[in-house]
Amino acid sequence: MAQTKGNAWSADELRLRPGDLVMSDFDGTITRRDTGWVVFDTLDLHEAWDWEYRWRDREISSIECLAGQWGLVTVPPHELLALIDSIELDARFPEFVESARDAGAEVVVASDGLSFYLDRMLERLGLTICEDDPRPGVRRDCITRYVNRAELTDEGVVIDFPHSNAACMQCGNCKTRHLMRLQLEYERTIYIGDGYSDRCAALQADIVFAKDHLAQLMDEDGVRYVPFEDFGDVIEATAGYPRSANDERQRPR
Ligand SMILES: [Mg+2]
Repeated sequence: MAQTKGNAWSADELRLRPGDLVMSDFDGTITRRDTGWVVFDTLDLHEAWDWEYRWRDREISSIECLAGQWGLVTVPPHELLALIDSIELDARFPEFVESARDAGAEVVVASDGLSFYLDRMLERLGLTICEDDPRPGVRRDCITRYVNRAELTDEGVVIDFPHSNAACMQCGNCKTRHLMRLQLEYERTIYIGDGYSDRCAALQADIVFAKDHLAQLMDEDGVRYVPFEDFGDVIEATAGYPRSANDERQRPR
């Protein structure tokens, strides 16, 4: 089982149950690498870093950063989609969704990325998208995702930010607002993520799975979390069963 940082949650506490809502980040969490950076690096768009540093220095909002970075992408839509289709995903995410639902919990995805690639990649994993909030006790065969909306056009990527928070503007998609709305319906919330746009929502959740930059941020904030590498770890921790050595060898990468 994954080691728990700080004051450990017990195996019983980590086991999913009815009334639980799991919110997962997408880029770097369900994908192996951040999709934007795979695209910008592959296309040698060095100016993407200029936008990134201006955002990190808080000179510009996440919305301005994302619009600026994706504005650099001028390849035809079919080339961009071919690149998206080559990006590696965590093949065990659908298994996690099923195991959570078997336990009576529900899973949603919240991303500060873009719908044109996120929807395509969730569908590549065999998942169907639904738009509405889930409800406790209602098992579904589609998955809700909250994401910035983006369309591919011959003129480039056109982005819309329906979930921004004018009071903050740190993120294009305010994950905290989605989480706090769902917390009115669900008894417990579990957050899974890897980066800066996960920080605020993670601070509001009852249990946090964190890696990479989010783990550093949780350390800085003195917030306990469960370190993880991939959804194999999350399944192991939340389903309450040990992963065998045989499973380890066969685990898809
Ligand atoms: Mg991420």
